[in-house]
Amino acid sequence: MYADIIIDITHEKLDKVFQYIIPEHLKDSLEIGMEVVVPFGRADKETHGYVVGFSEEAGYAPEKMKSVLRAAEGKMAIEARLVKLAAWMREAYGGTMIQALKTVLPIKRRENEQQKRRIRLLLSEEEGKERLDYYLEKSQKARARLLAALLDDGELDYALVTKKLHITAAVIRALEEQGVLTVESERVYRNPRIHKEDKVEVLCYTKEQEAAIRMFTEDYEKKRYRTYLVHGVTGSGKTAVYMEMIQKAVDAGRQAIVLIPEIALTYQTVMRFYRRFGERVSIMNSRMSAGERYDQMQRAAAGELDVMIGPRSALFTPFPSLGLIVIDEEHENTYKSEQVPRYHARETAIHRAELEQASVVLGSATPSLESYYRCRRGDYKLIALTKRAAGQSLPAVYTADMRKELARGNRSIFSDVLREKLRERLEKGQQSMLFLNRRGYAGFIACRSCGYVVKCPHCDVSLSVHNNGKLICHYCGHEEQEVRVCPSCGSKHIGGFKAGTQQIEELVKKEFPEARVLRMDMDTTRQKDGHEKILSAFAHEEADILVGTQMIVKGHDFPGVTLVGILAADMSLYSGDYRAGERTFQLLVQAAGRAGRGREEGEVVIQTYNPEHYSIETAKRQDYEAFYREEIGFRELMGYPPAENLLAVLMTGKDENHLETAAEYLKAYAVRVGGEMLEVIGPATPYVGKVSDVYRKILYLKCPKYGMLIKAKNYMERYIQANSGFQTLRIQFDFNPMNIF
Ligand code: ADP
Ligand code: ZN
Ligand code: ZN
Repeated sequence: MYADIIIDITHEKLDKVFQYIIPEHLKDSLEIGMEVVVPFGRADKETHGYVVGFSEEAGYAPEKMKSVLRAAEGKMAIEARLVKLAAWMREAYGGTMIQALKTVLPIKRRENEQQKRRIRLLLSEEEGKERLDYYLEKSQKARARLLAALLDDGELDYALVTKKLHITAAVIRALEEQGVLTVESERVYRNPRIHKEDKVEVLCYTKEQEAAIRMFTEDYEKKRYRTYLVHGVTGSGKTAVYMEMIQKAVDAGRQAIVLIPEIALTYQTVMRFYRRFGERVSIMNSRMSAGERYDQMQRAAAGELDVMIGPRSALFTPFPSLGLIVIDEEHENTYKSEQVPRYHARETAIHRAELEQASVVLGSATPSLESYYRCRRGDYKLIALTKRAAGQSLPAVYTADMRKELARGNRSIFSDVLREKLRERLEKGQQSMLFLNRRGYAGFIACRSCGYVVKCPHCDVSLSVHNNGKLICHYCGHEEQEVRVCPSCGSKHIGGFKAGTQQIEELVKKEFPEARVLRMDMDTTRQKDGHEKILSAFAHEEADILVGTQMIVKGHDFPGVTLVGILAADMSLYSGDYRAGERTFQLLVQAAGRAGRGREEGEVVIQTYNPEHYSIETAKRQDYEAFYREEIGFRELMGYPPAENLLAVLMTGKDENHLETAAEYLKAYAVRVGGEMLEVIGPATPYVGKVSDVYRKILYLKCPKYGMLIKAKNYMERYIQANSGFQTLRIQFDFNPMNIF
């Protein structure tokens, strides 16, 4: 056996791996991720390196090869701890060690590469996917092709894009103007400079806030590092609690990482942290170049910072003594990476905290089923904030049954009650938000007369209409013919929902000509900062009604809003995946939470064809516990996460027949290695079965034990490597996927 070793991990050439002989005395102790001392260079200088893999074959003459000298001693350097984390990620999520290292370590770019132009995606994955759907809808193929490639890789070489993907400079420029991407040729150093304000907001904490801070403090002072889940209703003052916790870590001479979904990382939020922690705070976001991000990482490593705020990737900030990781809105999908390794920031944070002796604080008004389940099992400590911080009450929520509206002859998109409440607000000069739930509009079929939805008989998720007119299950591949009349009530009003935000804006203007309406969606946020501009205009009460997609529900604080209308609440219920019920509950509660945050009380109207569905019914009551009980029952019954674990194997290739055959082979192999322990489902065709002439197939493996799935993944990885039939395919593993594909 030989050890594959990398020497300089801050170097851009991570792929440069050197082979060393493993001496007898290290045969049993050497592990991936370990820091070792090796002779290096012409003078055989003793140099530190990291083990990134093992191989049985020598890459060149073994007699010329040198041996590993010994394991490095002393306190593990921050890099070594990150390499260890990368090794864990490789094992837990699949892919290569190099891919894991590239995710975890800040990569410095070589100076002479500066002139090489690169194209970088500026959108979050969620925004990007929404935009991709939009391009596909409009048949803008070149744009879709470029965006799909960027969604896969994040950054692309300019020359590669024009030569290999055959995309013209005009298309690249168009996407740049829309704020989708940026073309970079040189590094820009930007070091946000903001001074700590003298006037720190002095809050009188509520009893619940105080109890939360006290519990954390007592544990922290006794060095009891653990994971907490702050389940706090919308407006309960979670951020204030995080800040006190961060202060504790900082007072102990340690540093904190705060993860916030990119879409909620607004000026407002960031300023709150600057006001408290001043210059020792830094932010990271996807709009920064690799160079800028590298500089921030260097500042962190050099001890110039106490707090790093950012989306998922900020998790890997190389702090010398990390003491706390906060994950706000921990239920968000964006905490799951869509690039190999497809890691989840929550699990990875908890693992990093274990390596570093740090605590983790997860926070949400609508915790993920995973986190609540772990609380119930005693893995995490629950901290409940049940009341709004400034004493406001939670909004009153009404549901409007759209089946009854139809039966009464109301064919408009507004129920009578919503129309009336909107009018009331306009008369009183208060603000309203209309949220169109477009999540998973991906073509489910529902009856507008009785609410019936066509579901898969095997998987209990809704079927999706594909281009060929067939109804297909995303998990098992089950197919049916599209229906013309409702199988339940015989009505002809059965089909997909198709209203868009633009249409709703027009209808609002027609109905209320005097209203000032703002719209926030893909089209209106095209320009750079379009996002912030609309939010800020609405915050300054320059409009009466804000119409938008899920972009408008994420953590924004508009004190003037007293009414939230949710149109087509059902949309996300039928996105055809097992998280649909959870996602719907989360969206509805978060949207409802926008109402009544100021002095006036808030009201919410949920329009639905399915008011009896537990996601909608419990969201109406804003009763998380009741929702959890129903949902976990469903997951247990069907064997979906977190009750069991699910491994998706995504396979893509240019030759459809070849892909199908390979998928069947891999399935047969998985069945063989899994035996009785694993259930293998599929191969199924995802909703977008083909992107720019690349076909896609998915296999699902289900098992109660996560460890078994990791084993199965390891076996499959070896099988794939050993069989030439898989060479032309791209195969990725995704544990407990958040999305359907
Ligand atoms: P959450 O993240 O739980 O929705 P935030 O932390 O954004 O809530 O707080 C909501 C609002 O309540 C903020 O404007 C915040 O300044 C205010 N707030 C927080 N704690 C208190 C408190 N103890 N007393 C009064 N206002 C508070
Ligand atoms: Zn019907
Ligand atoms: Zn099915």
